Amino acid sequence: MEESNKYLMNTYNRLPIVLRKGRGMKVWSSDGKEYIDFLGGIAVNCLGHCHPNVVIALQKQAQRLLHVSNHYHIEPQIELAKILVNNSFADKAFFCNSGTEAVEGAIKLARKYASDHTSAERFEIITAEGSFHGRTFASLSATGQDKLKKGFEPLVPGFKHVPFNDIDALEKAVTKNTCAVILEPIQGEGGIKIPSYDYLKQVRQLCDKNGILLILDEIQTGIGRTGALFAYEHFDMEPDIITLAKGLGGGVAIGAILAKDSVAASFNPGTHGSTFGGNPLACAASLATVGTLLEDSFLLDNCRRIGKYFMDQLENLKNDFPDTIVEVRGKGLMIGLELTKEGGPIVDLCLKKGMLINCTAGSILRFTPPLIITEKEIDPLIEVLEDIFKG
Ligand SMILES: *Cc1c(COP(=O)(O)O)cnc(C)c1O
Repeated sequence: MEESNKYLMNTYNRLPIVLRKGRGMKVWSSDGKEYIDFLGGIAVNCLGHCHPNVVIALQKQAQRLLHVSNHYHIEPQIELAKILVNNSFADKAFFCNSGTEAVEGAIKLARKYASDHTSAERFEIITAEGSFHGRTFASLSATGQDKLKKGFEPLVPGFKHVPFNDIDALEKAVTKNTCAVILEPIQGEGGIKIPSYDYLKQVRQLCDKNGILLILDEIQTGIGRTGALFAYEHFDMEPDIITLAKGLGGGVAIGAILAKDSVAASFNPGTHGSTFGGNPLACAASLATVGTLLEDSFLLDNCRRIGKYFMDQLENLKNDFPDTIVEVRGKGLMIGLELTKEGGPIVDLCLKKGMLINCTAGSILRFTPPLIITEKEIDPLIEVLEDIFKG
């Protein structure tokens, strides 16, 4: 840990353990202590740690082919695109390596589409306050949290922020130069904020009326996290573009943009690209992850069922500690527990008790565990939280 601080840039507030090994719901630190993982790499390890299907797919692919340029056709990339397209609103996929890259690409695609179909002046993008879309410049510009932007100005021009879940505010922000709206279907980093059922449908209608593209950032909500493969499915509407990353690779770095044909057509050779995007190794891991999620019906069923169980237990805690807990929010296994106080000290205490949890937006405990979680992991966490809240 001393060397970590000596040799690495100080960009994270790391907890004082070194994690060395993981299996399923558990991880172990270098001193041999066992932890139950309720964070899952922030919604990344959707099948749990080192799922055999993912590990075997990686081993096989590593022996066959690690990397070739996108100047050639790549088998696992084609297979992955096919499974994502066949199970979504989309017709086409583009692969990159992370969430922020997917958002950058989606923003480029939306601007290119507007420039192809109307005019290059149509570059404005409306996004939500409290949103999180990534750390590179366009994604950061889209992000609706000033504290993340401080010191990095000037940002990319053309982004406007409106309150989340407020259709009137969005409508007022639209001008003849608006080319896209980008929203998380459920805000993750912003504190697990779920819009009303009608909101996204109303946004869809507003976009249609004005010829505006609707981008949903499903980097955190996608790949089964909310109990459906994609969160937009809960809201009875379809976007034009979605961005994916986090859970997409089951623990391996990969990002994607999915879009309808009419929109995807604005990317043609030379307009966008990535050296590593869609590489055989990452695509093999992702194919195994998405394939497992779709074939093993236990996983999505469990996500919905156990997610409800988890939230019921948290609701019971709320009844016992009304002065500490403000609200329980969530969908599937994307769950937030809003506190009346800072969540950081609770995360530290949970760590001491062998439970990895997270706090976002200051006072919201966040749980995004692997979709394989059962009562047998949740019950001890609830006991630990109860002890902590008792003081
Ligand atoms: C994590 C996240 C990102 C950024 O992903 P990175 O892989 O860290 O670049 C973007 N949007 C949402 C909604 C996220 O949760």
